[in-house]
Amino acid sequence: MKEKIYTIPVTDAFNTDCECPLCILEKKLEDDAVEYTLGPSMMEPDSRIESNRKGFCRKHFNLLYKQKNRLSLALIIDTHMQEMNNALSASFSKKRDTLKQEAQTGRTKTLFHNFLNKSAESTDIVNQLLNHMNDLEKQCVICEKMAHTMERYIDVIFYLWEKEESFKETFNNCKGFCVHHFQALLEGAKKYLGQKHLPAFLLQLLTLQVDNLNRVQEEVNWFTKKFDYRNQDAPWGNSKDAVPRSIEKIVGYMRTEE
Ligand SMILES: [Zn+2]
Ligand SMILES: [Zn+2]
Repeated sequence: MKEKIYTIPVTDAFNTDCECPLCILEKKLEDDAVEYTLGPSMMEPDSRIESNRKGFCRKHFNLLYKQKNRLSLALIIDTHMQEMNNALSASFSKKRDTLKQEAQTGRTKTLFHNFLNKSAESTDIVNQLLNHMNDLEKQCVICEKMAHTMERYIDVIFYLWEKEESFKETFNNCKGFCVHHFQALLEGAKKYLGQKHLPAFLLQLLTLQVDNLNRVQEEVNWFTKKFDYRNQDAPWGNSKDAVPRSIEKIVGYMRTEE
């Protein structure tokens, strides 16, 4: 049996009436991670070392900022910027002399390098800096933490789907998935299901996904038709919140409430 810390949230999410149970799981992880970052993690040296080194992506800085815990956030930013700035200063001071030299001898050296078909050192420095900045931009403590637990959840979904008939039924009765998590399930199917179970799983998943994507599209369509004066008195059906739900179906959960 898989650990309960993963199976319980998975079963709960699949029993929730929603457009994507994996979004329910992901949103909860995100909320918890944001809260943890500004709370207990402040006192954990290992967490601080990690956030000093990696920092956060734009989306998660945004969520951290919305928490209105400015002192905690400022403390995290302060030490992260110290580390980030020190790394840049250190690599600049290592290259300063080379750059000065190339700046002075610029034209002659360029001709010489062109002759040798070799790039100037300043070009190498640009490339090294770009690699460093790209790495820094890709890293986010919260994204990485969420991705790690989501992978455990996906593993558990396939485990339960294979082993527990009642979960298979719950899975079949959900309203499908957002496009992003549909993709995650396809990747998971490739990774966790053997050839014995793959066709049956795909049959279920694709039926769910096609039916529910069509349902949501029809709900948006009815939303647009409700603006026609001839439909003024016709019932809304499920279409009143069709716009945010359709966006969720395409890209995952929105945070319209915040
Ligand atoms: Zn989703
Ligand atoms: Zn992030």
